[in-house]
Amino acid sequence: MSYSIESITESMGARRVGSVPATIDWLLTDSRSLSFPEETLFFALTTKRNDGARYIPDLYARGVRNFVVSEESYRDIESGKLKPTANDQSPVVNYLIVPNPLKALQKLAEQHRGKFQIPVIGITGSNGKTIVKEWLHQLISPERAIVRSPRSYNSQIGVPLSVWQMNEQSELAIFEAGISEPGEMRALQNIIKPTIGILTNIGGAHQENFFSLQEKCMEKLVLFKNCDVVIYNGDDEFISNCVAKSMLSAREIAWSRKDMERPLYISKVEKKEECTVISYRYLDMDNTFTLPFIDDASIENSLNCLAACLYLMLPAEKITERMAKLEPVAMRLEVKEGKNGCLLINDSYNSDLGSLDIALNFLYRRSLVNGLKRTLVLSDILETGQNTPTLYRQVAQLVNSRGIERIIGVGNEIATCAARFDVEKSFYPDTNTLIRAIERGELRLENEIILIKGARKFGFDALTEVLEKKVHETILEVNLGAMIANLNSYRSRLKPEAKTVCMVKASAYGAGSYEIAKTLQEHHVDYLAVAVADEGSELRKAGITASIIIMNPEMTAFKTMFDYKLEPEVYSFHLLEALIKEAEKEGITNFPIHVKVDTGMHRLGFAPEDMPRLIERLKGQNAVIPRSVFSHFVGSDAPQFDAFTRQQIVNFEKASMELQNAFPHKILRHICNSAGIERFPGAQFDMVRLGIGLYGVNPVDNSIMNNVSTLRTTILQIRDVPGEDTVGYSRKGHLSRPSRIAAIPIGYADGLNRHLGNGHAYCLVNGQKAPYVGNICMDVCMIDVTDIDCKEGDMVEIFGDHLPITVLSDILETIPYEILTSVSTRVKRVYYQD
Ligand SMILES: *Cc1c(COP(=O)(O)O)cnc(C)c1O
Repeated sequence: MSYSIESITESMGARRVGSVPATIDWLLTDSRSLSFPEETLFFALTTKRNDGARYIPDLYARGVRNFVVSEESYRDIESGKLKPTANDQSPVVNYLIVPNPLKALQKLAEQHRGKFQIPVIGITGSNGKTIVKEWLHQLISPERAIVRSPRSYNSQIGVPLSVWQMNEQSELAIFEAGISEPGEMRALQNIIKPTIGILTNIGGAHQENFFSLQEKCMEKLVLFKNCDVVIYNGDDEFISNCVAKSMLSAREIAWSRKDMERPLYISKVEKKEECTVISYRYLDMDNTFTLPFIDDASIENSLNCLAACLYLMLPAEKITERMAKLEPVAMRLEVKEGKNGCLLINDSYNSDLGSLDIALNFLYRRSLVNGLKRTLVLSDILETGQNTPTLYRQVAQLVNSRGIERIIGVGNEIATCAARFDVEKSFYPDTNTLIRAIERGELRLENEIILIKGARKFGFDALTEVLEKKVHETILEVNLGAMIANLNSYRSRLKPEAKTVCMVKASAYGAGSYEIAKTLQEHHVDYLAVAVADEGSELRKAGITASIIIMNPEMTAFKTMFDYKLEPEVYSFHLLEALIKEAEKEGITNFPIHVKVDTGMHRLGFAPEDMPRLIERLKGQNAVIPRSVFSHFVGSDAPQFDAFTRQQIVNFEKASMELQNAFPHKILRHICNSAGIERFPGAQFDMVRLGIGLYGVNPVDNSIMNNVSTLRTTILQIRDVPGEDTVGYSRKGHLSRPSRIAAIPIGYADGLNRHLGNGHAYCLVNGQKAPYVGNICMDVCMIDVTDIDCKEGDMVEIFGDHLPITVLSDILETIPYEILTSVSTRVKRVYYQD
C-alpha cells in the first residue's frame, strides 16, 4: 500500500522541510535493506550502538529522498555538521522532523493497522514464538492470504515494519512480539492490536531486566488487552495464575493434558520412534493427529498451533493432514573447511541453551559421517537471568549427552564452572587470548569437527577467520586507486542520471569481491552484481550494504537470497514460478527481481513475445516485484556486429517498455556492458553494467587503461644446470646451453595456465623477460634466468603493471577475462590504493 508524503507527515505529526513530491511504499531503518530508493522513507533511528543519521549521505547517494529525523539530527544537517551529500550540491529532499523517529515509526504503523478488520494473531512468550508463527503459516496458508513478521522481527522496530506489510490482499496477520524491558509491550500492543493472543511459555530468556518472573509474565499479557481469545498452556499453573490476575476480557482456550474441563483437552500424547501421536477433545469432538517431531518443545508448540487452528475453524481433517507435514524451522549454521583437517561449524550469532542444544545435535550428526573428534568452543552464555552454577550444570549435561570430546571455554563465567566438564578442556578469558594461543601453537586443533558458538559480544568471527586462514607466497596485488580511476573514466561518459551496476561476479573478475565491493560502495555505485547467491551472502556477512543482484540465481539458494537481501535475475517462467513459490512459503512480499530479456544472445532470458504472459503472471502475485529489466549485448565491442547490436537495442526498447507500461512504479532499464558504454552512448537507458573496464582492460581494443591486478611471486631457488640436462617433468625442458634456472612457487593450481610452459611465454624478473622452461607443475614452475641479474627471494611478475595481461591472453588465444578469473582462491589478494 502506498501513502503520499503529505498524509504520512500528517499521521506522524511531523514538521516537513522540503517539497519534493513523493509516494511512500517502503519504510527503512537498516540501510542494507534498501531496494526502491525513490519510494522509500528512511527513519534515522538512534540506538545504543548506532546513529541512523550517519547513513543519510550514503542513502542520498543511492537515491533516497525522504528522511524522518530527530530535531537534533536536523540541527546537525542545518548547521552543516552532517552533510547529506558527499559534494557541494544542495540536496533535493524531504525531511520529516519529529521528536523521536522510533515513536513516529510506531505511530505510522499503528495508523496503518487501524485500516484493517482482519483477524490478527499476536504471539509472545520466551521461546517458540518464531516456530509457532511459521507453523501456523504452514497450517493455514492454503486457505488464507497471510501476512506475518519476517523471521523474528519482534522488537520495537521489527513490529512496526512487520505491520506495515499488511495490504489489501491480507486475510490473516501473524505477528511476534518480544520484549526485553518493562513497559515495552504497551507500545507493541498498540501497533499489533491482536484479536487472537498466543502465549507460548515463560522461561528465563531476557530475564535480567525484570524484577521477577511474574512481572515479566504480566508484562507479556499486556499484549492481549483487547483480544477476543487467548491461547496458553493451562497446565502451567504459573501462567494460569497470571492470566487470572490480569483480568483479560477475552475468551480463553487453555489447553490441558490433565484437566478435562479445559476447553481443549489433550487426552493422549504417545511418543513413537520418530513422531508423536496426539489425541484431543474440543467442543465434544475427539480427534487425533501425528506430529513429525518427538521433543517436548515441539509438542508444546504444536498444541498452541492446534488451539489457534481450531479457533479459526480449520476442519479437523485438514489439521491432521497438515500437522503430519510440518517442517522444521531452519536455523543458521554454517559449515566451513578449517586448517589441519578440521571442519568448522559456525554459530557465532546467539548463545542460549535452546540453540546450543540444536547446534550440538547438528555437530553430533555431522561427526557420525566424518569420524572427526567433537570439539566445542563456547563463550559465556549471556542474558539468561539464571544463576551461573545452574546454567553451566545444564550446559555440562548437554555437552556430556552429545558426546563432546573437548571443550574450549571463553569468558570468565564459564571458567568458574570448569570442574563440571569431564572431558579434555581449556579455558581462556577472552577471544584474543585464545587466538594468540592458537597462533603460537600452544593450542593445537587437528582433525576435529569444531562447533564455534558464542554470544556476539565475543566476536568469534575473528576466531573462525584464524581457523580457516590460508597462506601462500604468491600474491595478486590489486590497485584500488586504479580501479576507481577506471570507474570515473566510464562515469564521465554517462549522462548524469544514469545509474551504474558494477559487476563483481567471479570474485570481482578475480580481484577479490569484498575489497572491491567495499571500495565501490564507498564510491556510491548503485548496484553490485555477482553470479551466485553464495558470492552475495559472503559480501553481506562481510558488511557490504549496497544493493546486490544475483545473475545466476540457483533454485536451491532462494532462502539465502531472502535472508541476505540479494536480488535475483529472473530469466524464465520456470525460475519465476519456483521463486514465487519459495517467497510465498517464507512470507516474503515484494522481493525485488531483475527481468532478463533475450534480444539476440540466445543464452538466458525471456523472449520478447513472452512479455504479455510475464506481465500477467507478475500482476497476479505480490511475492516479487520487477525492479529492473535488462538485456545483454552479443558483440558491442566490434564494428562488424553494429547492425546486430542496433537491432538488439530496438528489440529491448520495445520489450522493456511493454513491461514498464504495465506497472505504476519505475522499472530501471539497462543493456550496456563496458564496450556498450563506450560505443553506444545512446543506449544508456536508466542504468549501465560495468565489468571488464573496471578492471583496467578496454574491451574494444584490448588496451590496458589503469592496470588493476598484478600477479607476483618470488624466486625460491636458483641452480646452474648443464646444457645437456633437462628441466622438469617428462624431460620436456631442453636447454641449448649451460643455464641458470629459477624455481618459483606458482603452478597451474594457482591459475598459471599449463600451455604457457615450454617457452611459450615468459614472466618478468627485475624487468627482464624470463621464459618458462619445461612443463609447468601444479604448484611450482621453472624459468630461465641465465641472462638476468637476480638472486633467490627476488620478485617475479607473472602479469600486471609491466607485463600486460593481454600478452598472455593472446598467446593462449583467449580473452583477458579468462586470465583474470583463473587466478585461484589460494592466491592471497593484497590491496593498496596509490
Ligand atoms: C558480465 C556481464 C556484464 C559485464 O560485461 P563486461 O564486458 O565485462 O563489461 C554485463 N552484463 C551481464 C549480464 C554480464 O553477465
